[in-house]
Amino acid sequence: MNESNPYSKYRFEDFTIRHYVELLKALKSNYTVSQYHLFNKDEKFALLRHDIDISPQRALQMAIAENKEGLKATYFIHIHSEYYNVFEKEIYNIICKIISLGHDIGIHFDTHFYSIDSKEAIDKNLYLEKELLERLFHTSIHVFSFHNTNPFILSCQDEQYAGLINTYSTYFQKSVTYCSDSNGYWKFERMYDLVQSAKAANLQLLTHPEWWQEEPMSPWQKVKRCVNGRAEKNLTAYVEILKQYNNKNIDW
Ligand SMILES: [Zn+2]
Repeated sequence: MNESNPYSKYRFEDFTIRHYVELLKALKSNYTVSQYHLFNKDEKFALLRHDIDISPQRALQMAIAENKEGLKATYFIHIHSEYYNVFEKEIYNIICKIISLGHDIGIHFDTHFYSIDSKEAIDKNLYLEKELLERLFHTSIHVFSFHNTNPFILSCQDEQYAGLINTYSTYFQKSVTYCSDSNGYWKFERMYDLVQSAKAANLQLLTHPEWWQEEPMSPWQKVKRCVNGRAEKNLTAYVEILKQYNNKNIDW
């Protein structure tokens, strides 16, 4: 491995849908892939968790790949995201498509939006988001994950809040092996090696869809691709509306 080259040092090739499919195949042969409200603690289970921070479009590509492998995952939606809006038609349709592929949706809960500093406030606001998303997507929500943890949040280790399974509960923190792709590289163990070795009794695999593209890219390129893609779409939509109503687009 060439340590001076970011491509090999940070394993850019790992973060493609192609490699994700290889990961899923290894996972299927070593574990029973299940969902948060369905898994059996006595089995060698694995949970596929996706926190959608930036890209529902990439989430859909992962959901399609999982569906082809006959697997069901859980997609956590962040309704306060600065990068996407579940009330926009395109994003709404993407989430509906993910659900139609058999996946579960959960809440990616942003305590910072509400400046939460008590368990009561978690219950109250999480319940509100649960009601909203259940009505919006005509589905049941079983689970949530915290977005951007801090020491207070990590101390909130109850099994459930607002009737939803807490992915950071004592059980998950103590008894389930966790591996994540946070920030687009492997900080600890490479996910494929962990899955392939089958050494863990069970697994919670956290991936953020924005990092999983068609071709190898740097994490920063991926963020720019998502942000610029959305900006380009907005500009195109503005021009189209002007044309539709025979209005002029005035510029310098
Ligand atoms: Zn997050």
